[in-house]
Amino acid sequence: MSQPHTSFRDSVDRMFTHAARLMDLPPGLEEKIRVCNSTYTVRFGVRMRGAIHTFVGYRSVHSEHMEPVKGGIRYALSVNQDEVEALAALMTYKCALVEVPFGGSKGGLAIDPRQYSEDELERITRRFTYELSRRSLISPSQNVPAPDMGTGEREMAWMADAYKRLHPDDIDARGCVTGKPLSFGGIAGRVEATGRGVQYAIHEFFRHPEAMKAAGLTGGLDGKRVIVQGLGNVGFHAAQFLSDNDGCKIIAVAERDGSVVNEDGLNIADLQAHIRETGGVAGFAGATSYSQNSLGALELDCDILIPAAIEGVINAENADRISTRLIVEAANGPITAEGDAILKKRGIVIIPDMYANAGGVTVSYFEWVKNLTHIRFGRMERREQEARTNLLVNELERLSADKGLGWTLTKDFKDRYLKGASEIELVRSGLDDTMRGAFQSMAEIWYSDEKVEDLRTAAYVVSIRRIAQSYQAMGL
Ligand code: GLU
Repeated sequence: MSQPHTSFRDSVDRMFTHAARLMDLPPGLEEKIRVCNSTYTVRFGVRMRGAIHTFVGYRSVHSEHMEPVKGGIRYALSVNQDEVEALAALMTYKCALVEVPFGGSKGGLAIDPRQYSEDELERITRRFTYELSRRSLISPSQNVPAPDMGTGEREMAWMADAYKRLHPDDIDARGCVTGKPLSFGGIAGRVEATGRGVQYAIHEFFRHPEAMKAAGLTGGLDGKRVIVQGLGNVGFHAAQFLSDNDGCKIIAVAERDGSVVNEDGLNIADLQAHIRETGGVAGFAGATSYSQNSLGALELDCDILIPAAIEGVINAENADRISTRLIVEAANGPITAEGDAILKKRGIVIIPDMYANAGGVTVSYFEWVKNLTHIRFGRMERREQEARTNLLVNELERLSADKGLGWTLTKDFKDRYLKGASEIELVRSGLDDTMRGAFQSMAEIWYSDEKVEDLRTAAYVVSIRRIAQSYQAMGL
């Protein structure tokens, strides 16, 4: 069968519409929520290598029912309007599902970042930031970009610095992008956040007997056979946490140049080091086999399949051959609407992207709040902490004496209170809490409403309901 022609945007819209039709929305609201508010295309020139090079960039705003709008900036040759619009829509639904108070946006530059030096990339990024800033498409109060495929802390630092130079009086300038380096207004745990969120999503799934039953899975995560497609930031962290903390066996990893397999489990840190050194997975000593066909690895038998790279890798062409019990969409849109329908018929359970990869934007939200409050997150300096702990202990003991309760606060209590939580502990527990809450809101609908056949539809229903409430509250 040939590749389906449904575009990424169509695919997202079809999934949205499927859920919206099960709801009782006021006339016209379904369309208002579905459509993309605006998409800005810019073509700008940068002089380098003795000529002017023209670059094409996009920033799409899907929904402004909450502001700022939020979403990453992607650097990849495949970037186009349809893609940024689909990704912006997914940001809207994702934020609503995890109750992060942002609208949805997404941007990108159609370039292969590997073709440019660091210097050139910096100049391109600063120029792109200037173009976005002129249209308020980067601003702490209106539109807050973040990393995505092909971008990371380095690009976010350039963007934050460029924005600050354009808006020297903006005291909140640091909140204009998230995913910045820790030393430049970032937050602990943002780099690992999406992968960590994938891990927490799977933990929560495994805590729900009904969900486990639907997937035909039993027991805990220890020893589960997992395949990961894409060992970029998201795939790498998810694979590492699942193997190192949960005892999963990562039996195959699919990458750009092919896939590697080892039924006893691949060592993810070693594999990443090998990719950094050689540019691919071929020749990795820790694998028992290598194949040039990277997508072929998606069809190997496993308990959990984690597509963590790009959209559309599971589609009408290969969905019949997928041999797993649970698919966790760490990437945005890795399964097309056609692929989704086939998998649903085959009883394969899918943890949908808008939930599974929401860890990134959740921790972005913590970073943005940290930037706007100008207050450090987590444990205070030791001396300040000691003084505050002593005050609290004295006060509690005074109260206890007044009321004749006879409390004596043990050293253990004092030590524990004194310790407090560090920034990374706060970020991880906030993320865990968010992932548990969002799963429960989806699962309730999935278990109780027979028209809602899968978690994706449940996720859309929760999310559309919340967005509809915002629009109605605004009077639109
Ligand atoms: N690019 C990430 C995503 O697709 C993160 C977005 C953000 O943190 O704003 O969710």
